[in-house]
Amino acid sequence: MPFRDIAGHQRTLALLGGAASRGTLPPSLIFAGPEGIGKYTAAIALAQALNCERGRGIFGGDLPDAGQDACGACAACRRIARGVHADVLVLAPGESGSIKVDQVREAIDRSAYRPFEGRRRVVIVDGADALMPEAQNALLKTLEEPPPASVFVLVTACPDVLLPTVLSRCRRVRFGPLSPGDVAGVLMRGHGYTPADAHAAAAASDGSIGRALEGGTEDFADARDAAARMLQGVAASVDVRRRLDSARALAAGRASSDRAELTRRLLALSSLLRDVGVLLSRADHRGLANADLKPLLDSLLRSFDGARALRAFSAVDRALEALDRNASPKIVADWLAFQL
Ligand SMILES: [Zn+2]
Repeated sequence: MPFRDIAGHQRTLALLGGAASRGTLPPSLIFAGPEGIGKYTAAIALAQALNCERGRGIFGGDLPDAGQDACGACAACRRIARGVHADVLVLAPGESGSIKVDQVREAIDRSAYRPFEGRRRVVIVDGADALMPEAQNALLKTLEEPPPASVFVLVTACPDVLLPTVLSRCRRVRFGPLSPGDVAGVLMRGHGYTPADAHAAAAASDGSIGRALEGGTEDFADARDAAARMLQGVAASVDVRRRLDSARALAAGRASSDRAELTRRLLALSSLLRDVGVLLSRADHRGLANADLKPLLDSLLRSFDGARALRAFSAVDRALEALDRNASPKIVADWLAFQL
């Protein structure tokens, strides 16, 4: 997948594409950032940009670092995408969950030769935090002085478990979480989600496509419906008992015993409250995670001022932390009911 088709990370990708075009790319890189946001996809795009036979257009538009993007269609681009290009090696954890020294030695041996079919050899270590210490030590010399025409890309969500000696030899490229709109776009374009399902899943995804795909589409949509109903109930009622009933309904059914279900509902609640905050602050509405529920959000503005929205948002945050620490879903839900 060329840079232009990747969701988000525009500035970072332009930087990489520009450096690849100009031949100024550092030969040892770490792509660091949360799981499921496209780091590996970016590493493949970089391999394509370095080896594409045709090149197509400039990626990054008016950004100062813009550079040539891959075409995505030539033989080299297609072979890289299919994982069968002779000069693009991917190391990943095996069944043991770790990357062993033998795998690393083989990659190093292969990278000592000139590229076989392309211009640059790219060695991608996916899940680099799974490199055994011995394997990391085997990589050290190569990371310091990679063979000419070779690029090493270590992809990881936990760079800090790598040896300091490895970290110090690599240029770190940071990838941040995606915006909810970017996540929803990928779910609709690439995974056949309806707009409502895509927005519901994206809102609870913390900016990670991987995380959005973990739950079933219905789970997220149901969780967001429950959270939206609850907020409407709490907002509409001046009667304390009714409000408590509405709030407690959030933890009804499966959510009363199922930690994962209650967590999904709380994440949806948190994202709705955040959107209320965005609307109240008159910030840019393009940042709304639940833009498809704008009428509902507008109706909530009548009952939530900034202070109440913020208080509720932090209460949900604390409830999520408590669930994370193994507190009982029922107790967490009861506590939360009094905070909204
Ligand atoms: Zn190409």
